[in-house]
Amino acid sequence: MTRTPIMAGNWKMNLDHFEAVALVQKLDWTLKDAKHDYEDVEVAVIPPFTDIRSVQTIVDADKMGIVFGAQDVSEHDSGAYTGEISAAMLKRLGCTYVVVGHSERREYHGEDDALVGRKAKVALDAEMTPIICCGEGLDVRKEGRQVEYTLAQIDGAFDGLSADEAKKTVIAYEPVWAIGTGEVATPEDAQEVCAAIRARLAELYDASVADAVRILYGGSVKSSNVAQIMAKDDVDGALVGGASLKAEEFAAIARFK
Ligand code: PEP
Repeated sequence: MTRTPIMAGNWKMNLDHFEAVALVQKLDWTLKDAKHDYEDVEVAVIPPFTDIRSVQTIVDADKMGIVFGAQDVSEHDSGAYTGEISAAMLKRLGCTYVVVGHSERREYHGEDDALVGRKAKVALDAEMTPIICCGEGLDVRKEGRQVEYTLAQIDGAFDGLSADEAKKTVIAYEPVWAIGTGEVATPEDAQEVCAAIRARLAELYDASVADAVRILYGGSVKSSNVAQIMAKDDVDGALVGGASLKAEEFAAIARFK
């Protein structure tokens, strides 16, 4: 099965809404100049919540091929949850994707696999695609337990999802030791865990789910290393942090071929 690659730029807590518009415009011009075919490689930006309305406005006004999403979502529908943002609110803003379970949310906000699974479910219920993040820390990698650790996260996050729901998800394998460190996993490291995740989806569901789900690699991806990682069979794109904040660099990543 051919899976359309996705290059998703996680801006984290960077760029205000003016800067967001400028970056998206520059990204669009750069990709248009290069005659980028979005059917060939999907391009997504994942700005902070406060930028999403501005990104939506410029993407719609200029009929861009770029899609966008959010970095997190509340597990709750509405009500007394100060500071939280619901899936319905994000859907209303035109979000295609919602990142759930990023390692920074797991580390600084204590999110566990069960919560990550519930957030994936509310995103799916609102007809958005969750990008479910997983990946081991340095201690686990040093012990050689990266596959077992990451698969346990997958088991936990997919626990409440049906096969039809699982098929609509995207998974991002992001070894924590490679995020924002400049320490990129080798293409073989990425393939080892991505292939194991795909095999686990076949066990949990069936081959059609395993074939359909796009599995991204994330961790210090740049234009200089993306092609080697994308050459691996089970890697269907990248979740890009730092390098997505520069339009030309991110456009070059999207045009990795
Ligand atoms: C990320 O934040 O998901 C990420 C992969 O960051 P970076 O590309 O900066 O390592």
